Amino acid sequence: MWKANIITAYPEMFPGVLGHSIIGKALNENIWSLDTISLHDFGYNDRNSIDDSPFGGGPGMVIRPDVVERAVMSVIDNKESKIPLVYMTPSGKALKQEDLVNFSQKKGILLLCGRFEGIDTRVIENLGFEQISIGDYVLTGGEVAAQVLVEGCVRLLPEVLGHSKSVLEESFSDNLLEYPQYTRPKVWVDKNGKENHVPDILISGHHEKIKKWRKNKSVEVTKKFRPDLLKGSKKVKI
Ligand code: SAH
Repeated sequence: MWKANIITAYPEMFPGVLGHSIIGKALNENIWSLDTISLHDFGYNDRNSIDDSPFGGGPGMVIRPDVVERAVMSVIDNKESKIPLVYMTPSGKALKQEDLVNFSQKKGILLLCGRFEGIDTRVIENLGFEQISIGDYVLTGGEVAAQVLVEGCVRLLPEVLGHSKSVLEESFSDNLLEYPQYTRPKVWVDKNGKENHVPDILISGHHEKIKKWRKNKSVEVTKKFRPDLLKGSKKVKI
């Protein structure tokens, strides 16, 4: 069973969003499991403190390496880790769908959530943590970022999403964003009384034409919002 081990100063923030909907149902059905490890259980003094002021000066506090090492060892037990060790940090490599595919195919993952100014670099390097960012912005802690990563992995587990085809057709699966989606009513009269129609092609029943239309729309949307993705795409002819 795929297992997420989360090291955090705030274990009460979990399962958070991971306890709801399809992901929460899969958790209840033991398709995946979650273990949260509190950094404060491995604190360095009688108040179980986990942080200290940064060498070199500057604002804020930094989480100590000895505290993090003890917390990690409580999960991997001095052996070489069989699961990826990942530190969530804005200074890391940008998280991509391909990383989620990769992680979801392992036995599980260990995620380390930072707080304050972050974590002493020595322990990140010594224990061989990969460093991953969920985007070019700064959050107050790694907990939301960890939930993003776990949610993205769990939905890829074979038993979780009913239609595995829907995973294949999604945004990023071939360097394209997804085409626009429509549902009922066929003609939606909005609050200004305007009629909004579904594109005729989608109700034509011509599967080949629909496929082509969706592909073209995908390229159009990608060109508009993420032209950088098209540069890396080999499959698309424009
Ligand atoms: N001083 C750091 C920011 C620390 S933010 C810097 O400038 O890089 C505190 C914690 O929030 C980090 O240790 C990290 O675990 C988490 N965090 C903040 N933004 C994040 C992001 N974009 N992706 C992943 N984790 C993030």
